[in-house]
Amino acid sequence: MSRNAGRVQAVHQIVNRELMPPKTPPCLEDIWAENVFNLTKMQSSLPKAVFKSIKKTIVTGEELDPSIADSVATAMRDWAMSKGALYYAHVFYPMTNLTAEKHDGFISVQGDGNTISEFSGKVLIQGEPDGSSFPNGGIRDTFEARGYTGWDVTSPAYIMETDNGATLCIPTVFVSWTGEALDKKVPLLRSIAAMDKAAHKVLTLLGNDEVARVNSSCGAEQEYFLVDANFASQRPDLLLAGRTLFGKAPAKGQEFDDHYFGAIPERVQVYMQDVEAMLYKLGIPAKTRHNEVAPGQFEIAPFFEAANVASDHQQLIMTVLKHTAKKHGFVCLLHEKPFAGINGSGKHVNWSVGNSTQGNLLDPGDSPHENAQFLVFCGAVIRGVHRYGPLMRAAIATASNDHRLGANEAPPAIMSVYLGTQLEEVFEQIKTGSVSDSKQKGVMDLGVAVLPTLTKDAGDRNRTSPFAFTGNRFEFRAVGSNQSVAGPLIVLNTMLADSLDWIGNRLESELDKGTELNVAIITVLKELMEEHSAVVFGGNGYSEEWHKMAVDERGLENLPTTADALPVLKKEYIEDLFEKTSVLTPVELASRFEVYSEQYILSIEVESKLVIDMVKTMIYPAAVEYLSQLSSTISSLLDLGVTFDKESITTVAELSNSMMQATAKLSEAIAKHDFASTDEQMQYCATTLRPLMDEVRTHVDALEGEIDDTFWPLPTYQEMLFIK
Ligand code: ADP
Ligand code: MG
Repeated sequence: MSRNAGRVQAVHQIVNRELMPPKTPPCLEDIWAENVFNLTKMQSSLPKAVFKSIKKTIVTGEELDPSIADSVATAMRDWAMSKGALYYAHVFYPMTNLTAEKHDGFISVQGDGNTISEFSGKVLIQGEPDGSSFPNGGIRDTFEARGYTGWDVTSPAYIMETDNGATLCIPTVFVSWTGEALDKKVPLLRSIAAMDKAAHKVLTLLGNDEVARVNSSCGAEQEYFLVDANFASQRPDLLLAGRTLFGKAPAKGQEFDDHYFGAIPERVQVYMQDVEAMLYKLGIPAKTRHNEVAPGQFEIAPFFEAANVASDHQQLIMTVLKHTAKKHGFVCLLHEKPFAGINGSGKHVNWSVGNSTQGNLLDPGDSPHENAQFLVFCGAVIRGVHRYGPLMRAAIATASNDHRLGANEAPPAIMSVYLGTQLEEVFEQIKTGSVSDSKQKGVMDLGVAVLPTLTKDAGDRNRTSPFAFTGNRFEFRAVGSNQSVAGPLIVLNTMLADSLDWIGNRLESELDKGTELNVAIITVLKELMEEHSAVVFGGNGYSEEWHKMAVDERGLENLPTTADALPVLKKEYIEDLFEKTSVLTPVELASRFEVYSEQYILSIEVESKLVIDMVKTMIYPAAVEYLSQLSSTISSLLDLGVTFDKESITTVAELSNSMMQATAKLSEAIAKHDFASTDEQMQYCATTLRPLMDEVRTHVDALEGEIDDTFWPLPTYQEMLFIK
């Protein structure tokens, strides 16, 4: 059998596959949130007093009154069982960016041997998963081995339908016995509380009588690739690392942009419909879907929601994308850079803050009061990015996102803010003190001062900025497609809390001096911009000039790799930030550094081993076999006296040799284990192992271009990207 038999068979299967017939999409009203135990369902199934109490808990984020827990649990169980669920699961979000579940049956065996279905308030409120398999960064070594999960009442329970049946899923926090956060949800909830507290003070100082709880909102655009499972199953790299470690660029890539504007292929469209139906049942407002720039790449974006719910929903979207792909014979790749030389996948985190009394605080308003409020919150964001840009970088640092940041069409690893020409001008004027006080048409009225007016939909989009203002929100474009959005949201909320706290204190002391409010606002914002305007950048973030200017002239940090970025978590000012906002204790922060750095090192080690395995067991044998055929043919020709160029033999032989030499270097390099520190080991991964892997790849990809295609064992880029 020839070496490419698997590929040939895969193509055959794909081309002849029976298409899943398009279903008539179900009526949205019929299925919307049918699998969610939401307020409506609680209202119809709970006694009035209990419903009132739980509703209050959900709105205020206070703790659930234990005396109503049994009543809620019974209603929830009855609802779940009526929908066929026999199991329930506490769902939690460990530090690994994954979603974890502990399943239990409702069934309980009584003393008399009879079984009843049992699900008490206690079980609803608290679970005890075997937490030992989740990384804790040393927290539980120093404290207690047990970990607990507890229902986050602000995120509704839902039913997950899989081929194995239905399960009632309860979104929970995951903490150690001593209360340390072992997950991403606890710090997210704390960051929202910190931001609310600081925002409340500022809004009160700005003269608002009534100030409701301030929350942050998130709408995350998710990019992903679909590859046929017949191909993916023949690529150990896709299976184990989620990306291709080798692969020659196809003659045609994304140059024509024909994928972006093209129609969604029918097979993919049927898949998307299935995904959407599933999401609608789960009450997830999936809204936009389209092709992305790269062939085989797509995007799904839900309508924005409160950050905590959006974060849980985002995890569910990733789960549903992957599960549904299997049903349709696809593999859904969420890796940031599955194919070298082709656009990567990000997760654009759209983020804003607001409440029910003042509305979206990042939306410029119509009145002088609203304009001033907007500028204060926007200023707070600018200060946050300037002070904590390196932390934002650390929040998106993973081995896989390193491939994307700074690569084609992806934001750079230097954090800056894009405001749009108009808003940038407004802040520039505040900084230079050149706000005019003559009222004219088309100006932004601040009471005392007038500034150029802002058109609502800032048309000028800057796609090269990692963090851009887009009219009424900021878009954090550097987040990785594989990541939980909780990490970036925690950082954004926390840095905003810190900035609002600073602004609140400064405003207060100005007002205490008797300064008029509007003058005080301008004074504080002027001071803020004098200190922090270096982070505002409207130019081309991809350009080399910016990389130089950002670092040399503006003093911004360029942290190209995860190895450079994660140590930021150990800096004293970062520890201070998290401690004073009560988002993470020093122990909790240290544990995050441990977990994230370990994951970084592990992923690079796994990939290195895979490179070696694939070269030795797949690529080299193919090259040798081809060489032997080639050389025997050519020597027979030469024996016959035919002139024949031997260069093709030399080329393949030389490439194979160089490939094996580079592989040997990599083998030797991964054997090193004596490192003085985690930082040193991460640097070793970034500066020694990664480049060696790339070196091997260069030779492999060149070989792919030299060898008879029937000898090539791996599905090619061309096949994976273009055959659906
Ligand atoms: P684009 O591709 O142009 O960036 P999309 O429409 O694909 O925009 O996605 C925009 C995302 O931003 C959606 O998830 C949307 O719900 C979200 N969004 C819109 N307004 C806000 C807001 N005020 N706060 C947070 N997210 C928002
Ligand atoms: Mg976007």
